[in-house]
Amino acid sequence: MALAVTAYGTKVLRKVCDEITPEYEGLNDLIDNMWETMYEAGGVGLAAPQVNKAIRLFVIDTTQVYDSIDDDEAKAELFEEETGFKEVFINAEIVDESDEWWTDQEGCLSLPDLNGEVERPWSIEIEYYDRNFNKQTKTFSGYNARVIQHEYDHTEGILYIDHVSGISKRLMKNKLNQIAEGKVSPKYRMRFAK
Ligand SMILES: [Zn+2]
Repeated sequence: MALAVTAYGTKVLRKVCDEITPEYEGLNDLIDNMWETMYEAGGVGLAAPQVNKAIRLFVIDTTQVYDSIDDDEAKAELFEEETGFKEVFINAEIVDESDEWWTDQEGCLSLPDLNGEVERPWSIEIEYYDRNFNKQTKTFSGYNARVIQHEYDHTEGILYIDHVSGISKRLMKNKLNQIAEGKVSPKYRMRFAK
């Protein structure tokens, strides 16, 4: 079942989320519903606060993007030697990041009709539990690492707009107010603050 996506202005998006245990009630259904919500809304990632749960859980599928790029050079630029991946991240912690940073456009299902340039580390090392609560430690780079950092930020109460430059943020202000007031109509269901 696709869930409503919480909009900018909703308090849950600003919470530092709690870790969960395998006993978290309804976890499997929640993960299934998050996948469905993400695909229906056309996203590549979705974090639990975006479905109104302040827990350290996010899902990502970058295979859609990887498969959609025909130009080999563009693909290599975004993915380096990696491919796309599909994964559930529980209680994730970014434990290392590269000195090299890069800038690219980001958007967010909680902030419809908006994009912004965000600078982030090129690669990261992350520890997390997968859907079966097996501990994983992996390194990701490029586009994959960017999406992970975006979703990880959600579990810290951080939005990508917190990383954009002051001028860009000022240009976004009217649109942000409109979103907070529910004056947007994306193709997917949203839960607004007002
Ligand atoms: Zn987001």
